[in-house]
Amino acid sequence: MKQQTLLKRKNTDTDLLISTRTVIKTALEKLGYPDEVYQLLKEPIRMMTVRIPVRMDDGSVKVFTGYRAQHNDAVGPTKGGVRFHPDVTEDEVKALSIWMTLKAGIVDLPYGGGKGGIICDPREMSFRELEGLSRGYVRAISQVVGPTKDIPAPDVFTNSQIMAWMMDEYSRIDEFNSPGFITGKPIVLGGSHGRESATAKGVTIVINEAAKKRGLDVKGARVVVQGFGNAGSFLSKFLHDAGAKIVGISDAYGALHDPEGLDIDYLLDRRDSFGTVTTLFENTISNKELLEVDCDILVPAAVENQITEKNAHNIKADIIVEAANGPTTMAATKILTERGKLLVPDVLASAGGVTVSYFEWVQNNQGFYWTEEEIDERLHTTMINAFENIYHTSQTRKVDMRLAAYMVGVRKTAEASRFRGWV
Ligand code: GLU
Repeated sequence: MKQQTLLKRKNTDTDLLISTRTVIKTALEKLGYPDEVYQLLKEPIRMMTVRIPVRMDDGSVKVFTGYRAQHNDAVGPTKGGVRFHPDVTEDEVKALSIWMTLKAGIVDLPYGGGKGGIICDPREMSFRELEGLSRGYVRAISQVVGPTKDIPAPDVFTNSQIMAWMMDEYSRIDEFNSPGFITGKPIVLGGSHGRESATAKGVTIVINEAAKKRGLDVKGARVVVQGFGNAGSFLSKFLHDAGAKIVGISDAYGALHDPEGLDIDYLLDRRDSFGTVTTLFENTISNKELLEVDCDILVPAAVENQITEKNAHNIKADIIVEAANGPTTMAATKILTERGKLLVPDVLASAGGVTVSYFEWVQNNQGFYWTEEEIDERLHTTMINAFENIYHTSQTRKVDMRLAAYMVGVRKTAEASRFRGWV
């Protein structure tokens, strides 16, 4: 009995896998699929755990744990990033792989979802140690990945250099030059124009569409961006250049707020490679305070579970666009929707990254490369169509934008699994 008092019940609202499953179940029911389809899609079809020994700079060997989840490959090869983060867990990687299936469905790509993660803190590792870890991970998962099986990409704290090492390692194992094994590579190694800024560009496009629905002009709109990593920094720049007033930004250490608008070019110039900039200032506010600042558009572009039932009532923005994966819990989604806010969910808002990853893979496969203008135009069309489709589903089916996005996102995989005779 004593032991039991030590056990803490899981918070189902902030547990990513539980909440993802709940929304998928509802989406499949709304679409009229039988329970066996849910039984198939509630878990990845394949989940690999690997141990990666790395010789550290001090001569010792450290053994890291990594994961690769492949949610469903009925539509095509699985696709999704690899994150390097101390908080990576098996369940998180599973949930993220399900979200990649949804993203691919929403922007209509011939992929299923995949995701990888390694428990590590890249901020405390040298360049050489990171290279060893990246190569070790690829050796460990090499049998289940490949250009026609499962295609990794960047995610939290991974970048084009890490993709380059991974591609090089895979090319040695495969005995071919295999650029299509991974996306988000440097341009000289078969990377695509526009991939680095693709997530932010996609978010910018949906912000414009959401603003139109609310009769708001992005020019002059007051915007708060939480997070100054890959998505948040590019996004602040795009919106700033479009005439929006960025009144708040943040990193992992704190937030900056100025109702008159921040000097984004100055901040971009000062940020380090992990997106840290607030440590240079004295009068910072907390991330929690930042979310409740008076503004028109709020973009959580950092980590999970930022808007919960505790603060959803205090959010002032009329439009909330999720550039991060999972920043708003289900309970908070309900509160914001009831308060009449327009919430653009992560699986739609952040789908620009995987869209341009798909363009990169197509270019690698055909060996013929597109211009930045061609990429931009295709990304534009894809994101606008996806936004319209989900907005329309939400209106006609009278469901919130998240459920609408799940309904649109899961349909292709459910249908493909049925045609293949799996369920
Ligand atoms: N990691 C990104 C995401 O979560 C991109 C995945 C990809 O490009 O395959 O959408």
